[in-house]
Amino acid sequence: MISHIIFILLTIAAIGMLSWSFSKIFKIIKLLKTPYSISNVGERISMTLKVAIGQTKIFRFPVVGLMHALVFWGFLVITVGSGEMVLDGIMGTVFDSNPLNDRIISFLGPVYDFIIASGDIFALTILVLIIAFLVRRLFMKIKRFTGEELRHKDHKDATLALTLILLLMVSLLGMNTGYVAFANAEGHEIFGVFPVSNILAGFLSNLEPHTLHNLEIFNWWAHISLIFIFANYLPYSKHFHVFMSIPNVYFSRTEPLTKMNEMAAVTNEVKLMLDPKAVVPEIEGEPERFGMKDVEDGTWKNYIDSLACTQCGRCTSVCPANQTGKKLSPRKIVLDYRRRMEEKIPGLLKEGKTFSDGKSLYPDYTTYEELWACTTCNACAQECPINIDHPSMILEMRRYIFLEESAAPSLINSMSTNIENNGAPWKYSAADRFNWASNVFYNDEAKTKIEVPLMSDKIAENKNPEYLFWVGSAGSYDERAIEITKNFAKILNFTKTDYACLGTEETDSGDNAKRAGNEFLFQMQALMNIEVLNAYEVKKIVTCDPHDFNTFKNEYLDLGGKYEVIHHSQLISQLINEGKLKSEKKIFAQKTITFHDPCYLGRGNNEYDAPRKVLNSVCTNISEMKRNKSRSLCCGAGGTQMFKEAEKGTKEVYELRTEDALETNANIIATACPMCMTMLTDGIKMKAKEEEIKVYDIAEIICKDLGI
Ligand code: SF4
Ligand code: SF4
Repeated sequence: MISHIIFILLTIAAIGMLSWSFSKIFKIIKLLKTPYSISNVGERISMTLKVAIGQTKIFRFPVVGLMHALVFWGFLVITVGSGEMVLDGIMGTVFDSNPLNDRIISFLGPVYDFIIASGDIFALTILVLIIAFLVRRLFMKIKRFTGEELRHKDHKDATLALTLILLLMVSLLGMNTGYVAFANAEGHEIFGVFPVSNILAGFLSNLEPHTLHNLEIFNWWAHISLIFIFANYLPYSKHFHVFMSIPNVYFSRTEPLTKMNEMAAVTNEVKLMLDPKAVVPEIEGEPERFGMKDVEDGTWKNYIDSLACTQCGRCTSVCPANQTGKKLSPRKIVLDYRRRMEEKIPGLLKEGKTFSDGKSLYPDYTTYEELWACTTCNACAQECPINIDHPSMILEMRRYIFLEESAAPSLINSMSTNIENNGAPWKYSAADRFNWASNVFYNDEAKTKIEVPLMSDKIAENKNPEYLFWVGSAGSYDERAIEITKNFAKILNFTKTDYACLGTEETDSGDNAKRAGNEFLFQMQALMNIEVLNAYEVKKIVTCDPHDFNTFKNEYLDLGGKYEVIHHSQLISQLINEGKLKSEKKIFAQKTITFHDPCYLGRGNNEYDAPRKVLNSVCTNISEMKRNKSRSLCCGAGGTQMFKEAEKGTKEVYELRTEDALETNANIIATACPMCMTMLTDGIKMKAKEEEIKVYDIAEIICKDLGI
């Protein structure tokens, strides 16, 4: 009776404290903005089953991944047994002198046997793995477990949480072993199947029945107390992911990684600037700050991301900025948010969003230098096992710096001014945008000039071309990128593809402005382009630039620009399939080609196959870099890096990526992006390898192969 009362009081205290911790979290969640619409339930459930329950992303590191997945799956199974223990305790059956009564859900029969047997096996498995994790953490120097963002307290927290799990498993096995040994000694029926504890019980057969019963009871109390302690410790520990990882994955973004959200308040202002008579939807409540300066400017997803972070460091281990010695660590971005929120919670709960303590997330926690080192490559978001979205947080802080403080790096300001004035990130005249088209020749002796059709001419002839070839700013003005443009135009003409360009009606897509945080300029550019494209009733857009490809495909959609957007690698691959581009495999037969995946094509939009199909059509010897496809290392140009000085580090990102390419011993580095072309060409120059190794776009490779 006394035991029963003590148990009920303990349970009330544990559930009460846990509810209090969760109520604080819910109050903060209610205070924060909604990140996006949480619809598409089916897609979310399937993502949760795959990523959270199936642990698919954790298997990207196979050995440690399997170890972690076993612990996670074991926890899920053991939780059922723990639930039964709490029920037993509440009903009081466990305190009954007759042990036959103390298994309340044993009526489930074989299902019960299966759950109990799995729990028993998992208890031993987890115990062994946790010892391995502790040895790894305490005695092996794993780079991922270091970093200036990890304080002494974090290391102690990790060790404490692992020790608690270890004790949980020891007490669970102790309880099961005592139960089985006692039942054997007394000749009672055993409820459930205990493969591990049965063996352990064999070693205790000399002990008296009452000793065995005491062993069971002691471990029962120890286990249940540890469950209550652990559950209440978790919300304040890095191991909160035990609770948070499943909801965090469920609520994560289902859109392509490189899609950046629009800002409704900016859309209204831009629409009114372009047309003072425009009717814009009303935005409820007080006007909010642009971007994120402090935690309350974030969304509740940013908050639960920060609570769910396991501090595993997978994100930082793949970050190109971090790997080249820059200060940026995506794990720190997430931890900064959590720490700042912890500091601010009491004030926010008392005074609401207006509370100020004179500090803020940016710049007191996350610094300018960190934010501007990001290439927006999304390697961090790709790698995070629980779908945390670091680049969005970084870009929200850049938005604050740009729109509220006008304090972006000076070269980024110049880039923005150029886009505003000339419709390109450089100081070139908008009137020269189509100059490249005046001298495009097939590579034949007669020097046959090719005509690049203009959309305005086509429409005047009452023709509506199938494709709009979007050239982009780099493809129109950058000397090296113009070669890509010309070669792709040759392919389009050679295959008699029905296309046209906008010529001087084209202007910058706004992609770089958006990554810099200048949402006003992005939307101005986007809305102007959409007006032109819609006026021509454009349905399909093809482009050689993965950044513009991403912007048109994913970001123009929110502003009313709905098109089928195709990257040139996809169209070339399609033309090869249709038999319109037939290689004789002569020029590249003796060559080795390696392919660099552009982040905005691969990781961003999941296109890895098309460029490889193109290369396989001309060459049999494709040598992959060690980091390829979704693990590909950024070239270092994205996120506006190409337009500014790099932050201080040990080397340039493009240098590191060039080293990856050189390791393959390829003669040719192929890519499918004008920005990657610039960076890798610079890398090859830096390594003084221009004579031996050439950098080509896939369009150039096809033209060389065909001799056109
Ligand atoms: S997006 Fe790329 S550069 Fe930016 S933090 Fe993530 S991994 Fe690092
Ligand atoms: S953000 Fe994700 S990958 Fe990075 S430390 Fe946290 S859990 Fe690990």
